[in-house]
Amino acid sequence: MSPAGPPVRKIVHIDMDAFYASVEQRDNPALRGKPVAVGHGRARGVVAAASYEARAFGVHSALPSVTALRKCPELIFTPPRFDVYRRISLEIRGIFARFTPLIEPLALDEAYLDLSDFLAPDETATSVAEKIRAAIRAETGLTASAGVSYNKFLAKMASGQLKPDGLFVITPKMGPAFVEALPVHKFHGVGPATAEKMRRLGFETGADLRACALPFLREHFGKAGDFFFAIARGIDERPVRPDRARKSIGAEITFLEDVFALDVARERLAPIVQKVWGACERTRLRGRAVTLKIKYQDFQQITRGHTAPDPVESGADLLRRSLALLEPLFPTQKGVRLLGVTVSAFDDAAPSGQLDFGFAADEG
Ligand SMILES: [Mg+2]
Repeated sequence: MSPAGPPVRKIVHIDMDAFYASVEQRDNPALRGKPVAVGHGRARGVVAAASYEARAFGVHSALPSVTALRKCPELIFTPPRFDVYRRISLEIRGIFARFTPLIEPLALDEAYLDLSDFLAPDETATSVAEKIRAAIRAETGLTASAGVSYNKFLAKMASGQLKPDGLFVITPKMGPAFVEALPVHKFHGVGPATAEKMRRLGFETGADLRACALPFLREHFGKAGDFFFAIARGIDERPVRPDRARKSIGAEITFLEDVFALDVARERLAPIVQKVWGACERTRLRGRAVTLKIKYQDFQQITRGHTAPDPVESGADLLRRSLALLEPLFPTQKGVRLLGVTVSAFDDAAPSGQLDFGFAADEG
């Protein structure tokens, strides 16, 4: 307990180890001990998940399949079975629910748990985290790693420390020093663009961030500057929010000049799609529904949507799906003043995203 301020929270981050790939290896003995990529090996496919054996070759999620095969010619592709992953994910959430009602899923394979008010007298957050890992192993045959700490950021960073099948605790005493030593590109909440910006500003570790005044961080990172200022000191007050379900990811752009030609509309769509896919990547949300929004010069607004059996698997895939919705709307008599793209119908029923800047891609 800190002498001043509220009691220290007990936050656990549970992260399944190479989840999709581990499920495939569990269910197919021929894949065990082998470099496995979940995804399609075809020309424009991407790796959705890689087994640890594949990771040793530098294969990771979001890598184009062609590149993955170049890095690891022995790589075995196996198609994703999202229905199976969803079912196991629900099983795992059932295990979490035995210990706390405060569960915030981040993706099918990871969640924050707040145990602060739900520990029996003889239990600690660490002992409960071990019980959860043991139950997951016994009931699903899969391993999970756990991070235990006093806030979400540190719990998340902790779960990655001893992967796979590990547990790591960051105590309030350790927190500030842990963050100071942490390379900024590894910060959860720092996407590739932000990491590059930090590199240009000369930031290498949390200690460099900590040395910065708040106005400087705000100037360079906007609202995220406040987050970085606090997190550099090991402070993260964000609550674990079970109700924080994100239902869709979208972006739209209003044009300076109305668009009449399909070619131009296609060009304008690309950066919107890129932005939406970037957010899907960072939050690791995979949606099956794509919606296109058009607003015309007379402010009439229409939407066109399509829900596919499989989730959007890449930026190129999202662009194809978006174009399929856009093209039938041309030629047009009325100029288009706004285009928007939204992805929804996520595989994960209840992930969350409260930071409005980039999440670092997670390889756990
Ligand atoms: Mg994971």
